[in-house]
Amino acid sequence: MKLFDVYPLFPIEPVKASGSWLWDKEGKKYLDLYGGHAVISIGHNHPHFVEALKSQLDKISFYSNSVTNSLQEKLAEKLGQLSGYPNHQLFLCNSGAEANENALKLASFVNGRKKVIAFKKAFHGRTSGAVAATDNPKIVAPFNAGHEIVFLPLNDEQAFLKTITTEISSVIIEGSQGVGGIHFPTDSFLQLLSKKCKEVGALLILDEVQSGYGRTGKFFAHQFSGIQADLITIAKGMGNGFPIGGLLIHPDIKPWSGMLGTTFGGNYLACAAGLSVLEVIEQEDLMTNATKLGEFWMEQLKSFSEIKAIRGKGLMIGFDLPDELASLRKDLLFKQSIFTGEAKPNTVRLLPSLALSKTEADLFLEALSIELKQTVSS
Ligand code: PLP
Repeated sequence: MKLFDVYPLFPIEPVKASGSWLWDKEGKKYLDLYGGHAVISIGHNHPHFVEALKSQLDKISFYSNSVTNSLQEKLAEKLGQLSGYPNHQLFLCNSGAEANENALKLASFVNGRKKVIAFKKAFHGRTSGAVAATDNPKIVAPFNAGHEIVFLPLNDEQAFLKTITTEISSVIIEGSQGVGGIHFPTDSFLQLLSKKCKEVGALLILDEVQSGYGRTGKFFAHQFSGIQADLITIAKGMGNGFPIGGLLIHPDIKPWSGMLGTTFGGNYLACAAGLSVLEVIEQEDLMTNATKLGEFWMEQLKSFSEIKAIRGKGLMIGFDLPDELASLRKDLLFKQSIFTGEAKPNTVRLLPSLALSKTEADLFLEALSIELKQTVSS
């Protein structure tokens, strides 16, 4: 059987990883400043993470959500403590898209509406249709035919004010747009969203799948604005590579049996991985590290006149390149052995492990300097 060829692949096969580093089949070493789309939060194969998974494998790896699983409770407890949302409830699933599906669905269950406000350049995942194709009125209600989405420009207060009415079920927004090129909602925009949602009975969904888990220096990116969201979706950095996602749910939303569900969500291995990630974030003070190194990079990046529109918080940084430097990301990878991310057309995204060291941060700046000089002079 062949693989379904949907991913453009680099001809590099990582076979080993540790901290911020990857090694390919030939033993060549790469600095990983992308973490496979912001997934590597505490560093590849962190010893505490590896130990947690190994010791859980020795006990039990899976049973369905029809039995008590105290690891889920431990994870919820720790997440409540570190995230600043101790009173929200936790629903565990397997991915970011699934977390967002559940959030949109839950909002519709709460207010019986199906219209959703989302934002241009947003990315929330790749699922559609599974619920609509399920012939169970209890699960599908109240939006048999799916949601109606209205897209607005990010940070456009007037457009938002014209659109938010009592017909809107939920407003979904990323803590910082990642795939869209690292664009942050302003504090005042988030505050407006929060206020108007309350007024009209819509639920505010913060998609923190990429921007959450300490990446921006706060546990969630939206916490810079001082607001509290009704629903918050998480995945990526949550499992440091082990697939796990989740949904933080306002305490006023009352669950009923069968309202949400999943086969694999919250399994023992995922919980062990998730718990170990939170423990490392806390014990190694990784949010402070993300803040410090993020500020350092943001400051240093300004000294490169060739790069434009540098934007970021913590270790979620993007900058734009002029067309003549469009090959920079490939040059960093193939000439300097550094993985970075991109967003179309010409944005470089930096999403390293939150445990990045100052030496590793310096290595990137040196490599960037070399590549910019070479491209400009050629
Ligand atoms: N939400 C955001 C902000 C994302 O960046 C992504 C993935 O890149 C998703 C949701 C979807 O997550 P997953 O690929 O785990 O389904």
